[in-house]
Amino acid sequence: MATATFRFYEELNDFLVPARRRQSFSCTLARAAATKHMIEALGVPHTEVELVLVNGESCDFDRQLRDGDRVAVYPKFEALDITPLLRVREHPLRTVRFVADAHLGGLARLLRMSGFDTLYDNHFEDRAIAEIAATEQRIVLSRDRELLKRREITHGCYVHAQRSALQLREIFERLDLARSARPLTLCLHCNTPLRPLDAALAGARVPPAVASRYRRFSTCDSCGRIYWEGSHWRRMRAMLAPLLPAS
Ligand SMILES: [Zn+2]
Repeated sequence: MATATFRFYEELNDFLVPARRRQSFSCTLARAAATKHMIEALGVPHTEVELVLVNGESCDFDRQLRDGDRVAVYPKFEALDITPLLRVREHPLRTVRFVADAHLGGLARLLRMSGFDTLYDNHFEDRAIAEIAATEQRIVLSRDRELLKRREITHGCYVHAQRSALQLREIFERLDLARSARPLTLCLHCNTPLRPLDAALAGARVPPAVASRYRRFSTCDSCGRIYWEGSHWRRMRAMLAPLLPAS
């Protein structure tokens, strides 16, 4: 029977059974096993993998494994400098857009708050999420590794953290989002871009105390909500500040 030796690096180990973490182990190969198939059979969603080396050479997910192969599997942003090597995914997504699974409503809201187009609906089923990801080129955010193994999903992030504020930090770090953030430019409810609203027009639609105190307003054309730079706004800014580049 054909066997190959595997070694997974950094946080990819979290997906393995404990006995296989942080060490080389050998594994029987399925017949005509492609790299991606074997990696997922061991529990690691392909979306978590940035680089695969087989016998020291980078290869793509379709590479067939043979008896005696040594397979090293790396996540995103592993300390090893992998830029000169060919990565498993040829096409980085040009614009960063997300679709969050039904359990990540808090994170979806925080991403919108940071200005990242994020679809979320707590009725989304896995198949719908995979379809949206493929047709709209969105990055899937999920804590469900089975969802991330779906073939249609080319770009996804397994979210390790449990609390939404920590999840936001995790995604910012993994995808290096700090410089692309545009805080407070999207409606938190509709994911629609906000547009500036003239103070005189806004004045008629907000409480008098707000109208007299604030000068800058913006509105969402989908739901009609009006946003101003009040205490809620300041709390959001304070929360985002540590994640953003110093200005
Ligand atoms: Zn809205």
